Amino acid sequence: MDADAGSHVDVLIIGAGPAGLMMANWMSRCGVKTRIVDKRGTKIFNGQADGLQCRTLEIFDSFSFGHRAWLESNHMLEICLWNPDPKTGVLIRGDRIPDTIPNISRFQQVVLHQGRIERFFLDAIRENSIKTGCNGKVGSRDAEIKVEHGVLPTSFEFDESVAEDEDAYPITIQLRHLTEEEATPPQKATMANGQGIQDGIFRSNLSSDDTEDSINLSNSIAEKAGRTEAVKAKYMLGADGARSWVRQQLGFQLEGESTDYIWGVLDIIPITDFPDIRMRCAIHSESSGSVMVIPRENKLVRLYIQLTTTNVDDGSGGKKFDRSTITPETIIASAQRIMQPYKIEYRYLDWWTAYQIGQRVGNSFSLKERVFLGGDNCHTHSPKAGQGMNVSMQDAYNLGWKVASVVKGHAKRPILKTYQSERRRIAQDLIEFDHRFSRLFSGRPAKDVMDEEGISMDVFKDAFEKGNMFASGIAVDYGASIIVAKGGSGKDQGDGTDVLGDEQLRVESSEGLATGLEVGKRMPSFKVLNQADARPWHFQELLKSTGSWRVVVFAGNIRDPAQKKRLDTLGDKLGSEGSFLRWCTPTEARYDSVIELLSCHSAPRQETTIFDFPEVFRPWDEREGWDYGKIHVDDESYHEGHGQAYKNYGIDPTRGCSVILRPDQYISWIGEMDDYESMNSFFQGFMLDQRARANAKPAVANGASKK
Ligand code: FAD
Repeated sequence: MDADAGSHVDVLIIGAGPAGLMMANWMSRCGVKTRIVDKRGTKIFNGQADGLQCRTLEIFDSFSFGHRAWLESNHMLEICLWNPDPKTGVLIRGDRIPDTIPNISRFQQVVLHQGRIERFFLDAIRENSIKTGCNGKVGSRDAEIKVEHGVLPTSFEFDESVAEDEDAYPITIQLRHLTEEEATPPQKATMANGQGIQDGIFRSNLSSDDTEDSINLSNSIAEKAGRTEAVKAKYMLGADGARSWVRQQLGFQLEGESTDYIWGVLDIIPITDFPDIRMRCAIHSESSGSVMVIPRENKLVRLYIQLTTTNVDDGSGGKKFDRSTITPETIIASAQRIMQPYKIEYRYLDWWTAYQIGQRVGNSFSLKERVFLGGDNCHTHSPKAGQGMNVSMQDAYNLGWKVASVVKGHAKRPILKTYQSERRRIAQDLIEFDHRFSRLFSGRPAKDVMDEEGISMDVFKDAFEKGNMFASGIAVDYGASIIVAKGGSGKDQGDGTDVLGDEQLRVESSEGLATGLEVGKRMPSFKVLNQADARPWHFQELLKSTGSWRVVVFAGNIRDPAQKKRLDTLGDKLGSEGSFLRWCTPTEARYDSVIELLSCHSAPRQETTIFDFPEVFRPWDEREGWDYGKIHVDDESYHEGHGQAYKNYGIDPTRGCSVILRPDQYISWIGEMDDYESMNSFFQGFMLDQRARANAKPAVANGASKK
């Protein structure tokens, strides 16, 4: 074998499933030198996870590919709850509830297979890494972050002595390039209804935009097969799924329920007389178990069945479930028993699987804030609430911007501690939710109120409705930390680390100034109008995931002279040479490229212009003039009504307030509109002073920052 010269990267990602791709996507936006490797020979083409929660769609939209998922997916609007009629025992539709709680997001839950989602990521990563120049010159193909398939890490070394040195590469990984044969997992080919059926990694029905990649990949794997190389990295994300190699190297454990539930999953085009087959359904039969129906894109329907019957000796006098006995026929036979008197069969089977999962959470998510775990390798649970892929992507969504801002020298390393303190708690909540929900889903329906062992369908419906808020991803509420200014212990529940940062710099939020907003939660969205051209925008559409922090000044009624004066004073401070906008930003960059300044006022649009705002609110560019995209107004639109943003955010329309948003749209701080000092202290808590860095090298003129 050849030994290639070692290479140095800022970020190495192991695993190119949803979590790894989300991380690579962030790196591509932020222009960070990155490699991403996966032992599999190809991406996923069908099967596995399919549900996209509304929060995930908001995130996709912030990366500008939400519309692709929205268009291609099947939209699920209603859940039908089917259970036995208490008198006759015959299956009836007992209730209906909305699939997504109305008005919690501008999106509703949809389903689309994981392969398409990976495709959207790959396209975005390619386009952005070339644009930002991640791995080479801006605009050149060499700059592209490409998923390297058929690559297996074989050893891991970590030099703890340099873990706190920002310039060091403490991680060394040996990589082996596999042959195509090694990189192709064996297919569980099964004959079902006369078809040879794939178990997930099947290439016959490629989407047209997957075909070219697939051909190129084969060639590139063959070219490098057998080589080894050493890679040195500053940071690493293990996103290598439930059986994680990275987790093993770190010696971390998954802790929790030892019971491993087995799920049979079937993607079919059903032929049936069941009236709600195009609705999401939870069907509890009297005594044959339960099935979850998920209507999918392209006429497909997914059936989830939890298989609990033990059928072989476990070798110690007990019984266990033998997974090898599961076939598409056994899964559909279970569905037929549960759904009778309705009939269901299929001629077309797209994918099937039977997979086993425990309800477990990793005991640690990070080694010295240099190596991180994310996705299935630090939480496993059942698939029925469609959480796995969403929570996995959201782990990396939480981590990506933090790592990028540290690598780029914008933020101090302690912000990385908030990854574990924020995401481990979410994983624990998820497991608890899953535990509760699994019991209710799998249990036999109660025959009457005296039947204590059975599950009451009212309790099930109540749990489903409450669970929907959690499952939407909107309920995520990050605790107090160096980047979330709110009350709370600020301790990581795992290792007890303090994530509050320097006591002198801590600031408090005044949540009463915006009663519709909650510090720690994501910014909700209502329509506002652009001041310059009257176009309505959902507020979230202004919050693209670019890696920038945002100060949003709800300027109130700027026609009121006292309020206008407050705005002007704030403008002077923000526009001054010593402003945090400037000291947080590298001297060569535009002053709002690290912290963007957005505003929304409540005076009548037609009586106001952008020139009523201090200059700092409308950045000037020598070639392009004023930036018209930063100032908005809460007013009536011509065609889309009035968003009532101030009312919905609970902000006083005269006095206003200011809000600091993290690059992932979570609310960090709420305060008085003109409380510049608190904003400055907040950023001092974790941002690096770029003037100090610039003193070490000659300053580059900032042509775009000032008129
Ligand atoms: P994964 O998607 O597992 O991605 C991990 C990646 O790492 C893979 O590409 C893998 O090839 C790569 N990898 C693994 N080990 C190494 C290594 N040593 N070196 C390099 N690369 C490595 N969820 C649902 O919601 N509904 C479902 O029906 C459903 N069905 C599933 C069926 C199966 C067979 C599986 C495996 C998962 C299923 N899931 C389902 C779960 C869902 O797919 C995951 O929650 C989600 O994909 C997690 O994303 P991830 O990126 O963390 O991990």
